[in-house]
Amino acid sequence: MADEEWPVVPVETLCRVCGNETGDEEHPSWDRYGAPRYLICDCCGIESGLGDDAVAGTWEGTVNLHSRRGTWVTARGAAWEDPGGRPPGWDLVEWMPRVPAGYRTPPPPPAGPERLRAAWRACPGAGTETVCRVCGFADGGPRWHEGVPTGARCPCCGAEPGVDDVPLAGTWRDEVRVVARRGWWLANGARWAEPAARPGGWDVVRQLAAVPPRWHGAE
Ligand SMILES: [Zn+2]
Ligand SMILES: [Zn+2]
Repeated sequence: MADEEWPVVPVETLCRVCGNETGDEEHPSWDRYGAPRYLICDCCGIESGLGDDAVAGTWEGTVNLHSRRGTWVTARGAAWEDPGGRPPGWDLVEWMPRVPAGYRTPPPPPAGPERLRAAWRACPGAGTETVCRVCGFADGGPRWHEGVPTGARCPCCGAEPGVDDVPLAGTWRDEVRVVARRGWWLANGARWAEPAARPGGWDVVRQLAAVPPRWHGAE
């Protein structure tokens, strides 16, 4: 089909999940017709066309990418698919702004209080928790006390217990909300809600390893 009969879009060469240079202009990960070329990212291991479908610009259109990213950093410890491709001194936080801007999007939309209350009541095994479900930060005091959110916002990722760290019943997009929030936070620079609380020599990957397995996300 001639070009003038088919809409042409900019090619994509960067991984939508982690921002790694996956292809090049000649062999892009997504081509000028908006079709995937099935290239595997050396960094996060995502294959273009298999798990990185997205519509840039909105939470709804990119939640899948945020979820994939949020799972990669906990379930796989942000390990490189091809360890030989990992640059010396590679830093996850410095790397993340490479994620194309359209895939960094606003945060998840807020949910109403009724829905949230039903969500945290439904959380299995909710007891007293001191580790942030989103980012793994553990020094900010209890987030949950005997199954009830304390209201203590995470000094690191800013997640509010019972609001930002519960899956909602509904679609899979609602269920991956906690994992996706982690991916969204990372893609937007892993900024601290309270910068003064950031320890010297902070290692985000080590901190993420403390996220309870229940909240790692499913690959
Ligand atoms: Zn990637
Ligand atoms: Zn947190």
